[in-house]
Amino acid sequence: MTAIALRQIRKTYGSLQVIHDIDIEIASGEFLVLVGPSGCGKSTLLRMIAGLEEISGGVLDIGGKVVNALPPSDRNIAMVFQDYALYPHMSVRENMAFGLKMRRADEETIKRRVLQAADILKIQPFLDRRPAQLSGGQRQRVAMGRAIVREPSAFLFDEPLSNLDAALRVEMRLEIAKLHNRMKATTIYVTHDQVEAMTLADRIVVLNSGAIEQIGPPLDLYHRPASLFVARFIGSPT
Ligand code: ADP
Ligand code: MG
Repeated sequence: MTAIALRQIRKTYGSLQVIHDIDIEIASGEFLVLVGPSGCGKSTLLRMIAGLEEISGGVLDIGGKVVNALPPSDRNIAMVFQDYALYPHMSVRENMAFGLKMRRADEETIKRRVLQAADILKIQPFLDRRPAQLSGGQRQRVAMGRAIVREPSAFLFDEPLSNLDAALRVEMRLEIAKLHNRMKATTIYVTHDQVEAMTLADRIVVLNSGAIEQIGPPLDLYHRPASLFVARFIGSPT
């Protein structure tokens, strides 16, 4: 079943076209990884799907519904950012509860979901701390927890691990893989890291200047890159 469909999706800033008529169908439960050089349009594409950026052309379908005109809050998807974007004046618990409160969920539901997510992400001991009192890895877990409690139909990650040191990046990558195996939520994940892409993805999309260079399972791209450009990102070292 298709969870998210991009049909001829385009983005222009004035006369500058940064996304060129992109078609992708993301299956329900699929882990899709987006890679490509800095400035190729990865964040713009995610932000359009999230509703944080207006779509200039084409149709975005989420769960069988055209959502081009819907605000982020009506799209039932959650985005996790590289810089965590936590509220500094709120505790971890409040950060995680905030989105649900805005949606007027009842206190019982909020409490239950926050504890559940804290358990999955092993952040129970930090629930009453402020973000400033946490390490980078702990903050990234809180940012993920804040997305999980909403029980969205899809997760969007924009380079969530790129601010972490190498060891922590490996640990968090394994956590994300475990989380996906457990929740099987539709996920679109942007990364610069080839290992992250190869190990997490069901399929990888290679973007080049706002257009799809190649899309397919990691091993297909690795063994049969469609171009030198793809080979540089994914393929065997030359
Ligand atoms: P990536 O995430 O792959 O590094 P982005 O999606 O951030 O790339 O940016 C894609 C292109 O769109 C870049 O050339 C960038 O300069 C341009 N861009 C992004 N946001 C804006 C904006 N608000 N106004 C004009 N150009 C923008
Ligand atoms: Mg980006």
